[in-house]
Amino acid sequence: MTQTTQYQQPQRRMRLKFFDSILGKIAYTAWDTKEGGARLNECAKLKEQQYWSDEQINALQTAKFNSLITHAYNTSKWYKKVIDNIGISLGNPLSLDDLARFPVTTKIDIREHTQDFISSKYNPETMPKAKTGGSTGVSLNLFFDEHCQKLRNGAQIFADSFSGWKPGIRIAAVWGNPPVAKTLKQRVRAFLLDRMIYLDTMDLNTNSMNSFVVRWRSFQPEMIFGHSHSIYIFAKFIIEQNIKDLRPKGIVATSMMLLDHEREIIETAFQCKVSNRYGCEEVGLIAVECEKHQGMHINTSHIILECLDENNQPVAPGNAGKLIITDLNNFGMPLIRYRVEDVGVLSAQKCSCGRSTPLLERLEGRVADFLKKPDGGQVAGVSLVERTLTKIPGIEQMQLVQEQLHEILINRVKGPEYTPNTDDQLIAEFREVFDASVNLIINDVEKIPQEKSGKYRFSICKI
Ligand SMILES: [Zn+2]
Repeated sequence: MTQTTQYQQPQRRMRLKFFDSILGKIAYTAWDTKEGGARLNECAKLKEQQYWSDEQINALQTAKFNSLITHAYNTSKWYKKVIDNIGISLGNPLSLDDLARFPVTTKIDIREHTQDFISSKYNPETMPKAKTGGSTGVSLNLFFDEHCQKLRNGAQIFADSFSGWKPGIRIAAVWGNPPVAKTLKQRVRAFLLDRMIYLDTMDLNTNSMNSFVVRWRSFQPEMIFGHSHSIYIFAKFIIEQNIKDLRPKGIVATSMMLLDHEREIIETAFQCKVSNRYGCEEVGLIAVECEKHQGMHINTSHIILECLDENNQPVAPGNAGKLIITDLNNFGMPLIRYRVEDVGVLSAQKCSCGRSTPLLERLEGRVADFLKKPDGGQVAGVSLVERTLTKIPGIEQMQLVQEQLHEILINRVKGPEYTPNTDDQLIAEFREVFDASVNLIINDVEKIPQEKSGKYRFSICKI
């Protein structure tokens, strides 16, 4: 960097910041107001509700739950049948305890009976829709009514504000498949609202990352949004190249589990804390980490989150269980006690930030990420990967694939500290979990393959 650019940078940044805040506020408010103001209005409500007492939240959830159940009974073939089967009478108001009487809704239920889930009050042809990836083995078509979508946008803005995002702020996005604005309206919107530069995570290499650094220096983004592991790869590159001038004010990691050692590297590279976030296409924002980073605050105004064991009984806080979600917003396609196929741990603690919403302590991975032991036990593959990477030098990355009970393929990327001893340590580490009846195969690869969406999976069980 020359002296001139060093001198010019801060001035340019100040001008950009001033322009951003004015333009951002005007553009965002104008856009939302034109469409009824529901997004910013909901965001304001969520900011207030996060400090509500447990009784107030309970009352809000109970009211929304009753409207949802009545609507689902009257307009969704699937839930009419479910409610008739469990014998709930809708004459009297339900309490949240009644939720436990509902069976769990699975992805297979939705895939095989999609039309029966959709409310007869809405037209699936005109409703916003999404398709989930098939990485858990089941790909789904999902529908949302427009009001629900606006509430979800409101929750998104609310969650973004936890990590310093404001309307119009410049963003560095680290995603797979960057969207390309095609129509004039989309291009104007992209310029005014989603001002971003993209690093396409489907093609991460020295050239693409170098070029991203160049674009970063000219665009001066203030936040990073992206897949946890892709941000980590970029962060490692930044450290290796000794680049020290990329200084965002906030980092949002989402779409996959944020591993502790990846968080450390990212925070070192950018000298900025990472906010972890958990959500999915099916129900929107589930939980978001605040500035205290003591767990993720559950979006209790929009969803009811339960944590259940294999017999669908509640698991005590601090223990892992399957996450089950009731979406209180979506009247277009009601989802009651939907099993999202992730495993997580609820917390009994409140966050020290003063917000009263309960915490999701951590995610343990997808149900499909759990490896199977011959004795019937299960192993959180992602945790095993993380433990091994932190403990044994010489391994850069790792992915576990189990195609049969007695064999685990360890796809491994060697690190600079690799010695022949690394393999012995790696096998010894795995032997603490898997006995000698399980064949362990180390397979050296150049990089861990991505899924079509650009996400990574570090543990895949196919049995
Ligand atoms: Zn907090």
